[in-house]
Amino acid sequence: MLKIYNTLSKSMDEVAPIEEGIVKMYTCGPTVYRDAHIGNLRSYLMADWIRRILAAQGMSVTHIKNITDVGHMRQEMLERGEDKIIAAAIEEGKTPAEIAEFYTGRFRADEDKLHIQPAHEFPKATDHIQEMIEIVEKLEQKGYAYEVEGNVYFEVSRFPDYGKLSGNIHEAELLEAVRVDADPLKRDPRDFTLWKAAEPGRTVKWNSPWGEGFPGWHIECSAMSIKYLGEEFDIHTGGVDNIFPHHEGEIAQSEGFTGEPVVRSWVHGQHLLADGVKMAKSAGNSFIMSDLEAQGLDPMAFRYLCMTARYNTRLNFTFTSLRAAQRGLQRLKNRVWEWMMESEGSAVGGDAPDGGDMEEWGGRFLETVSSNLDMPGALALTWKMARSDLSASTKLALIERFDEVLGLDLLSVGDEYETSPEALEQLLRRARLRDMAEYDAADQIRAALEEVGYVVEDHARGSRIRPKANWEKMTEHRDVVSSAAEVPSLIESDSAYAATIGVVACNYLDDVKRVVTSALRWAGGRDVEAVVLDNGSTDSTGDWLDDLAARDSRVRVIHADHKLGEAAAKNIVIKQSLGRTVVMLDTSVEVAGDILQPIDSLLDGEDVGVVGPFGLRTDNLHHFHDGEGESGDMDAMQAYCFAFRREEVGQVGLMRESFRFYRNLDIDYSFHFKERGKRIVADQSIPIVQHEHRVWNELAEGERDEMSLKNYRRFLEKWGDRADLLVSSQRTGS
Ligand code: AMP
Ligand code: ZN
Repeated sequence: MLKIYNTLSKSMDEVAPIEEGIVKMYTCGPTVYRDAHIGNLRSYLMADWIRRILAAQGMSVTHIKNITDVGHMRQEMLERGEDKIIAAAIEEGKTPAEIAEFYTGRFRADEDKLHIQPAHEFPKATDHIQEMIEIVEKLEQKGYAYEVEGNVYFEVSRFPDYGKLSGNIHEAELLEAVRVDADPLKRDPRDFTLWKAAEPGRTVKWNSPWGEGFPGWHIECSAMSIKYLGEEFDIHTGGVDNIFPHHEGEIAQSEGFTGEPVVRSWVHGQHLLADGVKMAKSAGNSFIMSDLEAQGLDPMAFRYLCMTARYNTRLNFTFTSLRAAQRGLQRLKNRVWEWMMESEGSAVGGDAPDGGDMEEWGGRFLETVSSNLDMPGALALTWKMARSDLSASTKLALIERFDEVLGLDLLSVGDEYETSPEALEQLLRRARLRDMAEYDAADQIRAALEEVGYVVEDHARGSRIRPKANWEKMTEHRDVVSSAAEVPSLIESDSAYAATIGVVACNYLDDVKRVVTSALRWAGGRDVEAVVLDNGSTDSTGDWLDDLAARDSRVRVIHADHKLGEAAAKNIVIKQSLGRTVVMLDTSVEVAGDILQPIDSLLDGEDVGVVGPFGLRTDNLHHFHDGEGESGDMDAMQAYCFAFRREEVGQVGLMRESFRFYRNLDIDYSFHFKERGKRIVADQSIPIVQHEHRVWNELAEGERDEMSLKNYRRFLEKWGDRADLLVSSQRTGS
């Protein structure tokens, strides 16, 4: 019996189906105005494992996954009167329905690639407006809802159980959780929208007893779950971010409507993180399936990776860990392939799987996965079985059974490792040479086979040959990093150069060329190095940098396998620098003369921390302005050219990596120096020319504001009460 943590009962509950032998399960599905990111997919994998485990226990599972298309509006979007599907449609010149259909197709394809078994129904919100209206009407009749000017709200105070799922029981917590909004029509700020009146000009809307409008977000899941699964069903899944307000709202609506508990077990998956924070499109740290495939990685490696952590713990995604998962998967497949070869060879001898062993290992496997979805345990048991002394045919039969739950498609290895007769011939030749201890000749054959795309692996009972996987082909020439954490710090090492020119590059090859070549040209005969972090460029920037590094020994290039946050990227450069002075340059600038001489002479002042041409001042920390053609003491240095002595880093520390976007990061880092009593000094005569700042110019206005604001808040949280550090307060002599 599957036992799984129930967010509602707060205990480990057995899934004992309401209807004998049939489990009814509902999964909150995708919003289809964009691609699902791999964090979303992690939560669908969780539901898939639940379903497969129940099936392995002999139950029949009815699985419903809704498609949130245009009917849906998140609460905060509702308040802003914004619908992303409509916005996306307008932008792409398509109708909202076309957009939704397009992304639904992509979503289904992603699920297929991950071997997520398709739900039995994928009901669309827009096809169920009538069902939603019926529930809202009934809620109104029963006194749970009220109408104001064509809007209908759920009256939270009428439903005493509100808060039972999320534990947001106390009024203060609830208010906090709904982030007190400004809708003056609500009787109580905790009340949430069931139906919203259409604003003038809105095209996507429906008739209702309250006039033209559209549904609130939570109501679709009440309507579709009850329609397809009935007024009482077994399991409801989603990500933890769904607990409040979405599922809390769903419970209030569904139970207000039926008068009885509707869902038995609420199961919530923890988040997939990237760079340590929740993966989300708005955070700029999300990846989609094609990002993985672009690196030649197999979707099954992601499935394997998700199995290495329990569903209820956070999992930090990096490409390094994904590659490790890919290698783990490959090794497992190698084993399976060997068992196939061995049991094929012995099939004539009637070496059938051992019934007793099958029963024992099969039982242990089911017990493991049934214990709160212990997929890491299942993986460990799989490896234990692989390394055991069971016969090859027993192992093969067992892995076939395990894989019905794991879903890794391990048996496909037979086709995957199909090798040409010529290559096999060469492998045999190599084996004969090795038997005769002619290792050099044998190695030559191996090298020749690898050259044409094969991997030769030697193991205890002989050698194996298989086609090289895409990910192996794509990563063999480059040193790549996935995070700042994995890059060692050389900060404590002695300086090996007079200066380091540090650059973070992400696409815009022409700009990158301009800044790097001009800096190197003007360095003249000085003893400098250039450390360039290629921050996940997707154009030819990375290749150009590799070529440059091959030609010019002063240049070192580190490739990040995806776009790291700005502070993390800069920290890698700083950590890897070996110059006495570190000069960080933005890719929008060009060096137009000797910058090192003036920089070094300014930094000679013991109390000077940061220098550069473009300073910023402020009187109150809330508004920074350009140093307006001035040189002298500043409150911050702009990132265009930001220089400091490397030895200071030991004291001031690295940049704060919560700054994923560049804006205000330079100000924040300047304050690290100020806090240590160091001055920030601008010198306009440092020969730096500014060009178009393309990273900024290519952002949409809304994006700029949103990302800038986040960083500004971060800055103020830390430094908001440190007016004492400002030049202005020191001048007046406080
Ligand atoms: P959405 O398309 O935003 O409605 O999200 C679809 C599902 O993915 C929901 O169940 C979310 O709770 C879940 N989800 C969103 N972000 C993440 C994440 N970073 N990791 C895991 N699941 C997530
Ligand atoms: Zn839902």
